[in-house]
Amino acid sequence: MGGFFGAASHRDVVMDVFFGVDYHSHLGTRRAGMIFHDSEDQGFQREIHSIENTPFRTRFEDDLPGFHGQSGIGCISDTDPQPLLVRSHLGTFALTTVGAINNAEALVEAYFSEGGKQFMAMSSGYVNTTELVAALINQQEDFVSGIKFAQDAIEGSLTLLVMTSDGRIIAARDKMGRLPVLVGKDADGHCVSFESFAYHKLGYDDAYELGPGEIVRVDADGIETLSPAGSKMKICAFLWVYYGYPNSNYEGMNVEVMRYRNGAIMARDEAKRGMVPDVDYVAGVPDSGVPHAIGYSSECHAPFGRPFIKYTPTWPRSFMPSNQDVRNRVAKMKLIPVPELIRGKKLLFVDDSIVRGTQLRGTVAYLYESGAAEVHMRSACPPIMFGCKYLSFSRSRSEMELIARRVVQELEGDEGQKHLDEYADGDTERGKCLLHAICEQMGFDSLGFQSLGGMLEAIGIDPEKVCTYCWTGKE
Ligand code: SF4
Repeated sequence: MGGFFGAASHRDVVMDVFFGVDYHSHLGTRRAGMIFHDSEDQGFQREIHSIENTPFRTRFEDDLPGFHGQSGIGCISDTDPQPLLVRSHLGTFALTTVGAINNAEALVEAYFSEGGKQFMAMSSGYVNTTELVAALINQQEDFVSGIKFAQDAIEGSLTLLVMTSDGRIIAARDKMGRLPVLVGKDADGHCVSFESFAYHKLGYDDAYELGPGEIVRVDADGIETLSPAGSKMKICAFLWVYYGYPNSNYEGMNVEVMRYRNGAIMARDEAKRGMVPDVDYVAGVPDSGVPHAIGYSSECHAPFGRPFIKYTPTWPRSFMPSNQDVRNRVAKMKLIPVPELIRGKKLLFVDDSIVRGTQLRGTVAYLYESGAAEVHMRSACPPIMFGCKYLSFSRSRSEMELIARRVVQELEGDEGQKHLDEYADGDTERGKCLLHAICEQMGFDSLGFQSLGGMLEAIGIDPEKVCTYCWTGKE
């Protein structure tokens, strides 16, 4: 997915942007970059590096002595190299983007057919999506019209930061607000961030949260709305369930608090239906399953335990290389068991979600091999039925890679795909069949998914403002 951080101040912001971007490292694994603007002598300075094998801080610390500036933006990118430095009729500006552009090829072709002559090509032949966004912005006469034009043209979502040659930063939140954009303030200036904890830790206070589609300009002295927020919002529910860092708040709702509440609601609703098994420990699949499990454990009064602990000193990042096999291997290497908490024990695990089930299957097999008496599984969100088309969230090439969709196909063929809403609801006959089939395939003693209503209750903001497309297929 990716994330960004920018700052504009009366003092040098190199270290703020360096640490601010670093605090977005859980959001991407491929490329990272920073661009600073020094109004006195150096103008723009930029570095982009691969972070596939080396964490952001280590990768960029040697660049720090060469950077100076009272303004800067930087990003962690899960896709193409960025931020880019662009020169156009709008001046020289830096640009970083987060989101997904599903019609990129069509936009490139439209650009050529309207007289555009060239893009730099990536080694894959594709056009860097941030360069494509720059080309769209440059088709208009000012940044605000250009950003709106780009946001209207793309299918997917587009959240971005522009740093202009006067050192000011323009921040634009996606039209439907799928991702958050927050502004922080300290005595010397302002910063713009995706994760709120990133600027709290750097001494900035909350100043402003952009509404959906809102465009603001931020400099050392203030925040100015250039284009107001729209009335409709669909912020990503997965920010709370999985993506977001625990210390962050989006729309005023803290991630960790939501996860405790979510686990508790799941246990409360299962207790009403007599579905809470008698277990020795409730445990979370590290990392993001853990707070959901804490909530579940305290609600059902079963002890919380950690039969698996993540080895963090040399595996500090959440999802490593883009190759699935290597990722599976890394995930396995990171999880270290505590045999004394497994042998002969009845365990209930809570995971943030069950997407393909590949890693979980291996974990469950390992638990039984290690002598676990029972393994019960709970997912902190409903069965995922659709791939995300807004944030490049899932790397799945096909929705049939999603375990729920695959099992529906096995159970009922194409007819089943017409009844996904029933399959997603564990109270319906089809929903019960899905639970039973996944349980059998994965070898769980029992399986439960959080309901859509339970998850939305835990998020706690107006459900109309939350994107649940992954589960419902409804926009
Ligand atoms: S489709 Fe899923 S991952 Fe994508 S924005 Fe919506 S809730 Fe988030």
